[in-house]
Amino acid sequence: MALEALIVGGGIGGLVTALDLHAAGIGVRIFEAAQEVKPLGVGINLLPHSVRHLDRLGCLDRLLELGIPISEQRFYNRQGQHIWTDPRGMAAGYRWPQIGIHRGELQVALLAIVRERIPADRIHLGCQLTGFEETDDGVIGHLMERATHRRFTMKGDVLIGADGIHSTIRHHFYPDEGPAKWNGALIFRAVTETDPFLSGTSQFMAGGRQTIIGYPISQRYRAQGRSLTNWAARFFIDPSSGFAREDWNRRGRLEDLLPRYADWTFDFLDIPAVMRGATAIWEFPMVDRDPLPRWSHGRVTLLGDAAHPMYPLGSNGASQAILDAHALVQALTGYSGVKNALEAYEAERRPRTAQIVLQNRAGGPERIVSLCEERAPAGFTDLEAVLPAQEMRGILDRYKALASFDLASVNGP
Ligand SMILES: Cc1cc2nc3c(=O)[nH]c(=O)nc-3n(C[C@H](O)[C@H](O)[C@H](O)COP(=O)(O)OP(=O)(O)OC[C@H]3O[C@@H](n4cnc5c(N)ncnc54)[C@H](O)[C@@H]3O)c2cc1C
Repeated sequence: MALEALIVGGGIGGLVTALDLHAAGIGVRIFEAAQEVKPLGVGINLLPHSVRHLDRLGCLDRLLELGIPISEQRFYNRQGQHIWTDPRGMAAGYRWPQIGIHRGELQVALLAIVRERIPADRIHLGCQLTGFEETDDGVIGHLMERATHRRFTMKGDVLIGADGIHSTIRHHFYPDEGPAKWNGALIFRAVTETDPFLSGTSQFMAGGRQTIIGYPISQRYRAQGRSLTNWAARFFIDPSSGFAREDWNRRGRLEDLLPRYADWTFDFLDIPAVMRGATAIWEFPMVDRDPLPRWSHGRVTLLGDAAHPMYPLGSNGASQAILDAHALVQALTGYSGVKNALEAYEAERRPRTAQIVLQNRAGGPERIVSLCEERAPAGFTDLEAVLPAQEMRGILDRYKALASFDLASVNGP
């Protein structure tokens, strides 16, 4: 008899897992706490290895109608001096693009594809998992319809916690874990309509310890000769002031941000003007959690941010969740017995994602700008003497290999 999977969380990880399980002939039910999936959030990047899986699942054309294939990542110092250009996506020789896309539009598009393929009575919006129990032959999810408070149960063979950074399932297994860990930085994110900048498909990162990154995320704007530019500004504050619990929907205030970037006017983009042009700004503390000793307990496992929340460096949040989905489905179809499959999934994904969590604490690709600032805080005249090209290539190559998006891994079999 075909397996029956219960997925908790209809974010990027949960929806891709649903598509992948369905394609593999495994029965799927998906439970999402939100009543309605709205295009919330700002932009994210999908790296070529995750795009490869989305292509295999027949989603790529739809995503390319929405997002922008990113062709390069440029690094600048705080003074706007160009440090390095790293070709990205197909411009770098990958067989799949890197895509800058609005997270909410991605989620809405994935849900639409799920609805086209999976019967409606298996897609439960406005339904929250409140608990679960294992039986001899399965796992029972305890659920609540949020609008009516009606409680019901659902039985499956495997329960997948794709329920994000505040995962109920993770909390069940690690009740004493406490709040997420904060490194003293805040990230302010927004989208602003701007003129196209640099190549029109460029991502940039500028600064040092304080940074700003930006990239275009909308084909709709591009078709009109404009850029919907996603940006994220990171700066550190006095850690003794504490931080408000992470919430994707918390508004940030322009006046807390703008003075710190007042003179960041670059020849390719006027950052204060971009900040002033945002319709809404969202504030999120830079948090993660320590890697776990185990994700899978019997027939229950974790995936995506529930398993490995990480600092948003190196464009990995959504991409690693998609890689988890693929590994999990391969394990469930390749191993006999759910428990063996979950162990195989975890053996493949847990050590790798733990390394990314730890590496992101030590700095991701943005080490290029922070090293440049440490060595030449007032700017440089001879870049090679400050930060040799070979050192920069090494930083980027090691990070790509760690996060599994080096060219050979992505283009290989
Ligand atoms: C509203 C929102 C906005 C975001 N905006 C950004 C952004 O702008 N930039 C960025 O880099 N990342 C953003 N993220 C995070 C990003 O989506 C993830 O880091 C990445 O995509 C991994 O996705 P995930 O599926 O593991 O988790 P998420 O995308 O966080 O999805 C988890 C899902 O589980 C649901 N859920 C939680 N608890 C339960 C429960 N008990 N029962 C049922 N469902 C439950 C949540 O409603 C959510 O839809 C956002 C996440 C959310 C939820």
